Amino acid sequence: MKGYTGKFLRVNLSAGTVINEPLPEEVARNFIAGRGFGVKYLYDELAPNIDPLGEENKILLVPGVLAGTPAQSVSRWVACTKSPLTGCIARSCSGGDFGAWMKFAGYDFILIEGISDKPVYLYISPEGAQLKDAAGLWGKDTAYTQDWLVNEYGRDVRTACIGPAAEKLVKFCAVVSGRRTASRCGVGTVLGTKRLKAIAIKARRSLNLYDPEGFNKLAKEQIKIMRASKDYAYNKEYGTTEGAITRNDLGVYPVKNFRYGQLEGYQKLGPEEYRKMRVGEFGCYNCSMRCGKIHVVTEGPYKGAKSEGPEYESYWAFTGPINNTNIESTVAADQICDDLGMDTISTGNTIGFAYELYEKGIITRADTDGLELTYGNHAAMVELVKKIGNREGFGDILAEGTVRAAKRIGKGAEAYTMQSKGLEFPAYEPRGLKATGFGYATSTIGGSHGNGSLAFQEWGTPGSGAIDRFAEDGKAQIVIGNQNGAGLEVGIVCAFAFSCGNWFQTLFPKMLHAVTGIEEFADWAYLGRVGERVWNLDRAFNARDGFDRRHDTLPQRLQTEPLHVIDAEGEGQMVRNLDGFLDEYYKLRGWTANGIPSREKLEELGLGYVVRDMESFLK
Ligand code: SF4
Repeated sequence: MKGYTGKFLRVNLSAGTVINEPLPEEVARNFIAGRGFGVKYLYDELAPNIDPLGEENKILLVPGVLAGTPAQSVSRWVACTKSPLTGCIARSCSGGDFGAWMKFAGYDFILIEGISDKPVYLYISPEGAQLKDAAGLWGKDTAYTQDWLVNEYGRDVRTACIGPAAEKLVKFCAVVSGRRTASRCGVGTVLGTKRLKAIAIKARRSLNLYDPEGFNKLAKEQIKIMRASKDYAYNKEYGTTEGAITRNDLGVYPVKNFRYGQLEGYQKLGPEEYRKMRVGEFGCYNCSMRCGKIHVVTEGPYKGAKSEGPEYESYWAFTGPINNTNIESTVAADQICDDLGMDTISTGNTIGFAYELYEKGIITRADTDGLELTYGNHAAMVELVKKIGNREGFGDILAEGTVRAAKRIGKGAEAYTMQSKGLEFPAYEPRGLKATGFGYATSTIGGSHGNGSLAFQEWGTPGSGAIDRFAEDGKAQIVIGNQNGAGLEVGIVCAFAFSCGNWFQTLFPKMLHAVTGIEEFADWAYLGRVGERVWNLDRAFNARDGFDRRHDTLPQRLQTEPLHVIDAEGEGQMVRNLDGFLDEYYKLRGWTANGIPSREKLEELGLGYVVRDMESFLK
């Protein structure tokens, strides 16, 4: 096989074994890489209804098929498992060098199963892979852990690890690599249950490509197109620090737990304000855009705080939900999340939920360890981030995520959880971006913007122009097209590079072919089929565990309370016909009215072996 290493590493922590296993060519052809491999192995190897925190759960770390090649911005990787936060299939993408290093080490992915009886880390080198004692690293933050591994094995080692929060089983923990994170759905929590503290990879940089010369030509063409685009220049200059301006101007920046679409004073979070704190920048493997901007706070109560970021989703999480415009506090909260190893989106969203409960009197200072959760109180927010990561006091309740925390709090708190399937919503207001909202409702991982670029499509980038973002009719096909995309999480291409010129549309399939020699990969229709297959297998994974139409939903707030904005379009918007959307969506997908993939659809996608598992749900 070209482009693939043809093998993966199976790490069994219960048995203490590391074994190379072959990657069947048929799996590569049918699932390509990324979350395609993730769901294929999880579906085949996990029994239905297993405990995500138990020994039976498994987690895969999978690079894209182009990782480590000379192409730009294509070395990302994805963590796939069953989520301890949602109970659904989980996937979360990250950047840095780690994806390329997995390929250089000779693995198409790493599969981790079982539970170790003591903390360990995995060291992979050209001499082989071995599990090592991590007693001295347990309890250490992600910066210390990775520094220690680099000191031990040298600067050419690349690392991924969990922080103390995952050791304490906070339900929304990240896998942290450098300062990049695979954050969503609690993928880091699963490594915490397994007592796998870290992975360190030392590898020689070589790949086995089908047509290296042809690929180099395509890579040169790609960078030419990217560099000529406006988005490339903008991303390079500002990273994602312009997000607060564009989203607030559109009225889709969720504020006060998704009641408002604009934050008063949002200009204080603009790109030039972040630039004042910038001390450096960072790029993932072979990405000249280097969108990561490093910030240091030089004065005030957060003096000394430093983060590679925060990225748009992260600084939204520390501002919009609690009505905060203190920019320095976003750097401090981001650093704590990265050090302790937590998802910034779920952390900030959960804190925003607590602030609304406080406003409504459902919780008081007696519940919050004396913290005043009044809107704008960023000091309390930063304190709560620490408390969640350390499971201290009230933080121990919030560490469960909004849905479980609401159950513990009671008194109707559940009505204020802004999530789908238990995954807290990110930084896009569904009432101002209807396809994005429907995407949250039907995403197989819960309330995520991650599988595609629906929000960007709705306001006009990339592509030929904005679609009517307030319309509900006709959105099913757009959502499906986006979910079936095989580029962003199967391929895997960075979402920011994807929108730089038209290289993705014109070159991506040719690149896949030049790397692997697999003829079908040069055909967009084939890639769409793979994306559809992956989505249907995700759906079958969830259906087997009892998920159906009832779970494809949005909070009542979004369906009954009008959106409020200050001076943008969108005042009064609501999601009015989720049921109508679902009817059309299931029909176009070839699923039953209850949202179960039909026998015909599964067989058409080469997933006939799944039908027997669906039979009881298809009656
Ligand atoms: S644009 Fe940013 S996130 Fe994407 S590959 Fe480059 S550095 Fe990484």
